[in-house]
Amino acid sequence: MVSSAKTFRRSDHPVCAASPLAVGAATPPLRGGEYLETMIELDDALNELVIANRILASENVVDAYGHVSVRNPRKPERFFMAHMLATPEIVERSDIVEFGLDGEAVCDERTPSVERFIHSGIYEARPDVVAVVHAHAEDTLPFGITDVPLRPVIHSGSFIGSHVPVWDIADNFGDTDLLVSNTAHGRDLARCLGPNNVVLMRGHGFAAAAQSLIDVVRLSVYLPRNARVQLAAIQFGKFKPLSDGEIAARAARYKPYSKQTWRAWQYWAKRAGCGHMVGKPPAG
Ligand code: MN
Repeated sequence: MVSSAKTFRRSDHPVCAASPLAVGAATPPLRGGEYLETMIELDDALNELVIANRILASENVVDAYGHVSVRNPRKPERFFMAHMLATPEIVERSDIVEFGLDGEAVCDERTPSVERFIHSGIYEARPDVVAVVHAHAEDTLPFGITDVPLRPVIHSGSFIGSHVPVWDIADNFGDTDLLVSNTAHGRDLARCLGPNNVVLMRGHGFAAAAQSLIDVVRLSVYLPRNARVQLAAIQFGKFKPLSDGEIAARAARYKPYSKQTWRAWQYWAKRAGCGHMVGKPPAG
């Protein structure tokens, strides 16, 4: 069980020792085609997670801090994320750890990121979410400490949605070190995120949620750019955000696994030095 993960030694468990990321304890063994299909699906998800880490670093969304995760495609009550000592720019497949929705590692003793509860809280509250990013991108920070709401102001920023809530950890937890370091913090943050795509965290950063790794990376790359444009526009006075109709029209045109989306993923991966890890574009 997940609750015993802290005292569990990976090498003691035959399943973990043989195939650390495929299945956890107390899972019946998969056979033949089912096993192969699961492994391919997992392989793709973990490969994309490595690419996502590298892209977010190369596009200055994360630095030594910040993280990205993906829900286990076969076990929705679990997600994958690199351990604490693997900074995003240099994350490898071997750095990835599987977590439960309680924020504890399933069978891994490496030190997890303190703020894994951002991810567990959002996955628990939002069954539709497949991937989550948390980062401290500087251009988003002014909107977390003032009354000026962050709005989508450029077409590529439409996916942040018309409403970006601001979560203030002090509201329910008083004076803290500002880190989302337990389940209560994570759940409170997820409550504030609600049905939205992005939540700003006062004096800290943001969390973004989407239905795929490509989507959440794209959202996180354009979020600071959108914030920069809004900050620049404010210098002139009034500015015009996208209308709800424009946001809806952008969403209606978007196809998550189209060649166009793939093109951006490939471009960012190349810039991040991991273009060779990107597979073939979708057929459609
Ligand atoms: Mn943080």
